[in-house]
Amino acid sequence: MLVTATFALLASFQAPYDLVIQGGRVMDPETGLDAVMNVGIRGGSIVRLSTERLRGARTIDARGLIVAPGFIDLHSHGQDAENYRLKALDGVTTALEMEIGVPDVASFLAERRGRALIHFGATASHPFARVKALGGAIVPGAIVPASSPATQKPVAAEQLAPIKDLLRKGLEAGALGIGMGIAYTPGATRFEVIEMFRLAAQHRVPVFTHVRSSGGNEPGSSIESVGEVIAASAVSGASLHIVHINSSGLKDAPECLRLVEGARARGLDVTTEAYPYIAGMTAVNSAIFDPGWQDRIGVSYQDLQLVETGERLTKDRFEQLHGMTEPKLVLIFQNTDEMVDSVIAHPLVMIASDGHIQNGKGHPRGAGTYARILSRHVRSQQRLTMMDALRKMSLMPAQRLERATAAARKKGRLQEGADADIVVFDPRSVTDRATYESPAQPSSGFKYVLVSGTPVVEEGKIVENVTPGRALVRE
Ligand SMILES: [Zn+2]
Repeated sequence: MLVTATFALLASFQAPYDLVIQGGRVMDPETGLDAVMNVGIRGGSIVRLSTERLRGARTIDARGLIVAPGFIDLHSHGQDAENYRLKALDGVTTALEMEIGVPDVASFLAERRGRALIHFGATASHPFARVKALGGAIVPGAIVPASSPATQKPVAAEQLAPIKDLLRKGLEAGALGIGMGIAYTPGATRFEVIEMFRLAAQHRVPVFTHVRSSGGNEPGSSIESVGEVIAASAVSGASLHIVHINSSGLKDAPECLRLVEGARARGLDVTTEAYPYIAGMTAVNSAIFDPGWQDRIGVSYQDLQLVETGERLTKDRFEQLHGMTEPKLVLIFQNTDEMVDSVIAHPLVMIASDGHIQNGKGHPRGAGTYARILSRHVRSQQRLTMMDALRKMSLMPAQRLERATAAARKKGRLQEGADADIVVFDPRSVTDRATYESPAQPSSGFKYVLVSGTPVVEEGKIVENVTPGRALVRE
């Protein structure tokens, strides 16, 4: 990157920059840079950082504002224009569907190329590959497969080939890893899981996974489930990313984090993430709600809230919804603020939203996750420094992607030679506004958001008719 930066610097002497961000507090979590500087952007890259005045075709006045790398959301189920707008207003410049992945990577990428506000990408989906290979139905637009024989049935070792073929095809089409929602495919044996990790290792991509189960009951505890995937990583050599350790770990999240620490201390490449809310959200017809869920998760009917109507569920209503083919989403109030706040503060935890807004409905994490970290955890609680928060939202996710794609080395950094994916925000006022009642309220305080050097947010508002988002693919 140094060499690239030097060439870029030499080339820049004559011409002015496309865009200059002037006078902001420039912060880079990799180098520790935290100083008032000017940022010169050309051709979608940051080509100059300087205390000298720079001349650009356009200048943004960033005095009093923080200038930082755009946020990378590794866990964004929402992958359409509605979600990309909310993401951009929350400081996100790259939104990836890595947990469950997508059923058809080639068409997912093709449908968004040249049309997206922010960068996008996905994993190849083990749950959907399994459902397809077993002849099950995939409801278009469903984030997770419904509970069915295709998710519940164990598959004999010699019958795993069609699942692997589908995953290979996804990786060849540019998938950034293998997404596994083991909790959504309880039929998957330990052996099947290990085989998927082996496939990931062969292709040198990480496995991103929602672990098999959560809660304190044995068998099936959070600790057992985290242990299963750490073991699969150890025996296969595949890198592992455990999604939402807050909601998968619940009361045992601190112990789950100690498992991740221990695995890393033994040289394994294991990472994790969390979102800053006490409630989870998933489809009520998924395998998460197979019999015994109350005991497993430690919640009951009244802790479930139907997203569509806002109603809290009763036994009768739950049973009616659970039997439907249509994937109705429910919020699950299952965690405490104290637990979530302490998980977010842990140095190994990166931030990822798990967000998905549909026609204005959903979970506030889809619109507010990143501003919430800055307003709640940095400004109000002062449990995170600004630099640590930026690291969790930009550099760490970029580093998680580097094994799958060299392109990630230019993301998550505010450096010469890096991609000009940049957020410019006011640390005194940046605020999440999304609530459980009104989940699609966009965050405020992100004054400018740049994707590959193109402003997608200006003066806090979406810029219409720009599509600088590119596919982030395995390379
Ligand atoms: Zn999940």
